[in-house]
Amino acid sequence: MKLKNYVSGQWIEGKGAGTALSDPVTGEELARASTEGVDYRAALEHARRVGGPNLRKMSFAERAALLGRIAEVLVANRDKYFALAQANSGNTKIDATIDVDGGSGTLKYYSAIGKGLGEARYLRDGGFDRFGKDDNFQAVHIRVPLEGVAVHINAFNFPSWGLWEKVAVAFLAGVPVLAKPATATALLAHAMVEDVVAAGVVPEGALSLVCGSAGDLFDHLDRRDAVAFTGSAETAAKLRSHGNVIRNSIRFNAEADSLNSSLLGPEARPGAPEFDLFVREVHREMTVKAGQKCTAIRRALVPRALADAVSDALAARIAKTVTGNPRNETVTMGPIVDKAQQKNVMGALAALKREAKAITGEGAFAPVDADPAKSAFVPPTLLRCDRPAEAKAVHEIEVFGPVSTLMPYDSPEQAFALAARGGGSLVASVFTADDAFAREAVLGLGASHGRVMVIDDAVGKLSTGHGIVMPMCVHGGPGRAGGGEELGGLRGLRFYHQRLAVQGNKTRMAALAASAAEVGV
Ligand code: NAP
Repeated sequence: MKLKNYVSGQWIEGKGAGTALSDPVTGEELARASTEGVDYRAALEHARRVGGPNLRKMSFAERAALLGRIAEVLVANRDKYFALAQANSGNTKIDATIDVDGGSGTLKYYSAIGKGLGEARYLRDGGFDRFGKDDNFQAVHIRVPLEGVAVHINAFNFPSWGLWEKVAVAFLAGVPVLAKPATATALLAHAMVEDVVAAGVVPEGALSLVCGSAGDLFDHLDRRDAVAFTGSAETAAKLRSHGNVIRNSIRFNAEADSLNSSLLGPEARPGAPEFDLFVREVHREMTVKAGQKCTAIRRALVPRALADAVSDALAARIAKTVTGNPRNETVTMGPIVDKAQQKNVMGALAALKREAKAITGEGAFAPVDADPAKSAFVPPTLLRCDRPAEAKAVHEIEVFGPVSTLMPYDSPEQAFALAARGGGSLVASVFTADDAFAREAVLGLGASHGRVMVIDDAVGKLSTGHGIVMPMCVHGGPGRAGGGEELGGLRGLRFYHQRLAVQGNKTRMAALAASAAEVGV
């Protein structure tokens, strides 16, 4: 079966043999994807000419209702999507929940907050500014939706969430989308878009999907368009420096890789709630999605005196992890997405092992119900680096798999400095019962992170998790993490709007402001 591309309002099969999508457990080919022959120029023009006006004529409340209808279609087909996530991504039930329900949940969230913006079609930004004594001439700032296409390039690890978290914000802003899931796991995104298109809930031209290579897509973008990219720092750098992107000042948001850290507070002791919560979280972040989360904890920073205790506690938890075929009910961790990625993980792990010793993951390893020759498993591997200040690779190489490095720190300042060695990260978490340290950590980590989660016993059970991106919080990070920002409730709308200052007669300015939605961000 070859996955078709939905462009210019039609399903089109790409030419040639295409690229194979496979089951990472059995190695079996599931489908092929090709964009050969897709006319990207025409696809973008159709979205701009037909999709844009169709969305922009709707009010925020109407667009919010549209998001709700898309979510309904996805919820109705949930079981089918779980099966596809298992087949093409090797997801356990928990993994699939994060991806599939994370996608529909984000749509529902934006549907709910978008309703509050009512009948407006544009946003107001701040108050009125006067220029002199006579206040008849004033200025107001507004934001109007872009008139181009939101091009969404997604990573392989979240084919559903990555698709819908971006669509939710762009559609609410009134901007049509051309989405390109990563080829290796495009099966799920394809099935979802197929269902949404078949249900007839999306206006003509508002949503396009391509499964396969981006081809010459970037050559046809223009100044009206915006690119939201998720993937590796390397691809982000390549695409943001594309000549056309630079020449036309095309908006470019990047969510890239990140060596996130988690800190255990200096006051912690074995048996304290924060100690146990920390150990549980590091283990969970290593094993959920087999560690293939951009937000996963890659570096676990602990007071030097606790390094042995944390190492033992983590090793004990890892020993209970059942790695194998997610079709087997006893399995708690699935495979890496494919053989090529397994090879990348093993190569990066070998580089880290030159600086850190393996606590787990060494020796014989047999995945449950799977043939190691055909499947793409990596055992959960805890490394320990006792001299992290002198190390390099552990702060620079992202192993996109079930791998985390334990690092002792000698002072809070050193812990924050080590976290910053990631070069800018998406998220850090701090587990501490000490209020003063919690505050110091937020301020010490803030400038190099997009999100900081602070956990004590009181919120241990309420926590949404270090690695889970919640739509109300901004997602992104400085430097290596891409320097971008997505979501964050209504803050996310900014990317898809042009802000302008409007100057004129104060009565006219007041009327303009009165029919805008106020978002206060
Ligand atoms: P990747 O190789 O950089 O690919 C990401 C996307 O870019 C894919 O859709 C890929 O398409 C596309 N792409 C690659 N080369 C391109 C080109 N020349 N022109 C246009 N598109 C191009 O990353 P990945 O392996 O899929 O994902 C893993 C990485 O993503 C990890 O480093 C992870 O940390 C990061 N990630 C970050 C976030 C975040 O929110 N910050 C979330 C998830 C993942 P093909 O698949 O067709 O090559």
